[in-house]
Amino acid sequence: MAAVLGLPTLPPARTSYFPTSPAPFFSPPKTRRLNQATRVGKFGNFLELKPESTAPQLLDGFHSDLPWFASGDRRRFDVVVVGAGPAGLRLAEQLSRRGIRVCCVDPSPLSVWPNNYGVWVDEFEGLGLVDCLDKTWPMACVYIDDGKAKYLDRAYGRVGREKLKTRLIEGCVSTGVRFHKAKVWKVEHEEFESSVVCSDGVELKASLIVDASGFGSTFIEYDKPRNHGYQIAHGILAEVDEHPFDLDKMVLMDWRDSHLGNEPYLRANNSRLPTFLYAMPFDSSLIFLEETSLVSRPVLAYSEVKKRMVARLRHLGIRVRRVLEDEKCLIPMGGPLPRIPQSVMAIGGTSGIVHPSTGYMVARTLALAPVLAETIAECLGSTRMIRGRPLHHRVWNGLWPVDRRCTREFYHFGMETLLKLDLNGTRRFFDAFFDLNPYYWHGFLSSRLSIGELFMLSLSLFGHASSPSKFDIITKCPAPLIKMVGNLALETI
Ligand SMILES: Cc1cc2nc3c(=O)[nH]c(=O)nc-3n(C[C@H](O)[C@H](O)[C@H](O)COP(=O)(O)OP(=O)(O)OC[C@H]3O[C@@H](n4cnc5c(N)ncnc54)[C@H](O)[C@@H]3O)c2cc1C
Repeated sequence: MAAVLGLPTLPPARTSYFPTSPAPFFSPPKTRRLNQATRVGKFGNFLELKPESTAPQLLDGFHSDLPWFASGDRRRFDVVVVGAGPAGLRLAEQLSRRGIRVCCVDPSPLSVWPNNYGVWVDEFEGLGLVDCLDKTWPMACVYIDDGKAKYLDRAYGRVGREKLKTRLIEGCVSTGVRFHKAKVWKVEHEEFESSVVCSDGVELKASLIVDASGFGSTFIEYDKPRNHGYQIAHGILAEVDEHPFDLDKMVLMDWRDSHLGNEPYLRANNSRLPTFLYAMPFDSSLIFLEETSLVSRPVLAYSEVKKRMVARLRHLGIRVRRVLEDEKCLIPMGGPLPRIPQSVMAIGGTSGIVHPSTGYMVARTLALAPVLAETIAECLGSTRMIRGRPLHHRVWNGLWPVDRRCTREFYHFGMETLLKLDLNGTRRFFDAFFDLNPYYWHGFLSSRLSIGELFMLSLSLFGHASSPSKFDIITKCPAPLIKMVGNLALETI
């Protein structure tokens, strides 16, 4: 298929059967280690252990160096960016690089981000950010069931949160971004100017406000019901006695359910609403483990996710000595885009960029921020002086041009399909998905495919699917398919 299309032909995903290959030479990560364990939890019941992170809470090396907004400064900027997460900082830096006057407002601009981010290494290579990964694995692994694993020839990395944030803040500092340490309470608009009112009473004015305050934002409006799916996960960075995973492979998904053999209630629920294990093994005793519900609607109970994780770790013989960090991951996925256009612009979690079928967003946001910055700079940075409604129209359509909205409809269709699959259906789906030409599955997971390529992917997926999987597609997909076709027609009118 790829040759016919003139697409690059990459090696297919490797499929093999247990036992897995032995671990090769491995150099340990530069993660700060604690002294030898002093607290040992009951076997497998890591939930009793409190996180004991010794990681710094604030970025080193900035402190008073950050160019803070001062009370005597002019309160008018071209753009105020709300939030100093990956989205806000990247956009602030990219705007400032283009000569736009930017103030970034966040309650704690120098705090280390709390989330653990994983990305495909090629995504960060393309962005010139590969040195911001603090650990990479040359391969990823997907356990389809107890008898079958697939090894994926695509390197995966854990983002060094401090490294990436430091890099982005350095970029902001060198290009002249101002920072204000406060929470934005209110956004107000006049015809050609907007303002934010902050928790410390400061009011900042700008031609454009960009909301990068993440999934909890209240500044962005929707004109359709928000029928999100949700990814929910419980993750721990843990010191363990031992674990069974190869050190050269991160575990993208482990759909095995043999750990629920003695838990009929959990097993029945898991068969209907499955969860998988995501794992990043750093060395033989340090590992990040996350039990994940890929997407559910309504959201799967967090307590259920944790119970399944306890059972899984016990079954895998993973005895947790210390929990260094924990995270509750809750990601709204899919649902409608914000109303386009509207007076506040958005980027990141609040803008609809999150991948509707996977929950991934970081690499894509970092890639799209320069695109948005360019559109904003074309309006504000030139003598054309585009302000008010024409500005809002231009920037929203710059982030969400019709072709990008159409591909999002397709990823949304992927989410709606996944929502209909039980454990066995999900296994069959991923078994066929990772057999696709890597051009397709890489592109799908990284939101890189055009709408034409996504249709070719669907045909190819159907071709690779087992008979029961074809039956799933035929019986469960028509409703989401009809919805997608309807939405595509609306987008292109
Ligand atoms: C636990 C977790 C793990 C994730 N893992 C991955 C992953 O592995 N890979 C991936 O691609 N994606 C992942 N995601 C999804 C997504 O990439 C992240 O949520 C990402 O942090 C979103 O970036 P953001 O900049 O939009 O928002 P955030 O990172 O949430 O940053 C928002 C910033 O805005 C500030 N803020 C909030 N309200 C205000 C206000 N009113 N005024 C001023 N500032 C405000 C906050 O303090 C924060 O600093 C994960 C999400 C979660 C929750």
